[in-house]
Amino acid sequence: MARAILSLTHKEIEAWCLEMGEKRFRADQIRRWLFENRATSFDAMLDLPRGLRQKLKESFSLFAAEVVAHQVASDLTEKLLLKMPGGDTVECVLMREPDRRTICISTQVGCAMGCVFCASGMLGLKRNLDREEMLEQILRLDRLLGDEERLTNIVVMGIGEPLQNLPTLLPVLDDVTDPKGLGLSPRRITISTVGLPAKILELAAVGKPYNLAVSLHAPTDQLRDELVPVNDKIGVAAILEATDEYFATSGRRVTFEYVLLGGLNDHPSHAHQLAALLKSRNAHVNLIPMNRVETLEFEEPSASRTLEFVSILETRGVAATVRKRKGADIDAACGQLRLKVTAIDDPSLEVV
Ligand code: SAH
Repeated sequence: MARAILSLTHKEIEAWCLEMGEKRFRADQIRRWLFENRATSFDAMLDLPRGLRQKLKESFSLFAAEVVAHQVASDLTEKLLLKMPGGDTVECVLMREPDRRTICISTQVGCAMGCVFCASGMLGLKRNLDREEMLEQILRLDRLLGDEERLTNIVVMGIGEPLQNLPTLLPVLDDVTDPKGLGLSPRRITISTVGLPAKILELAAVGKPYNLAVSLHAPTDQLRDELVPVNDKIGVAAILEATDEYFATSGRRVTFEYVLLGGLNDHPSHAHQLAALLKSRNAHVNLIPMNRVETLEFEEPSASRTLEFVSILETRGVAATVRKRKGADIDAACGQLRLKVTAIDDPSLEVV
């Protein structure tokens, strides 16, 4: 099978060009077609000599995955399910708002974190995604945009725990932020983590102003241990210490995600406890009304509980917003589409 061209770094494409007896600047042209000009085939790379285009076609695939599902929601959110050559499936999403085009990408096949309300971890972790598999999500979603639309934000919030795949993710983000790549500012990229303190420090040390979002979901260890099982080896205090360091080094205000699960973590007392943890910090809370996952019994929070939660946080000086639901009619919560398709492929899994 042909190698995925996206598995090569720019330097490697340059080396390949030289090996083929071509000039080094051809690599710049190829990069422009891949990142800026949204080429969908090597034939479309019209300013390359015909012979080089032919060699590219013989040596590489431009996109390696098969699009097994492409859904468009009534709010114009689009979701792709990509089947990688080895058969693994990967989900990614494009969200449209009046002044933004945000994509959400996955970093792993499955997830090892086991958060009890999340569809992504239900089948466990299979493996990390490779460089080309992450780039393919980004570039395919970018190609769903119209000529007049530009990608403005990336959230690394799809399936998987991004900080467990940092050595692959960071070079991908370097390509995305490179002015000769997609040219997106690191300030428009958000990495969402379950909260792995050592990895948060590692990310801080990289020294790029990426936004960090931490999936806290509970103000106490007792409750967090129940909802986010990996917490029993970590603890809320260690996470906050690491996020303080992240803020100090990057200058970026940290976001704390909090999925509201009706009757479990949405009581006013939880809001007060959360406010106590965060009020002295430069933090922002993003409340996420739970997306229902079939086969899981968690309840959505009531509208009044949600509003009360926000109002307690705000009254106590903690900035809070409620996340808008996007793509509600297309298996919105990340992980659900893959879960469905994987279950269909494997009848032993009882998921509808
Ligand atoms: N592993 C990373 C990134 C992927 S999950 C993390 O934990 O942050 C992205 C976000 O979606 C997390 O905040 C996660 O807790 C949330 N999420 C997972 N399942 C959900 C559901 N059923 N409803 C709403 N949000 C959910």
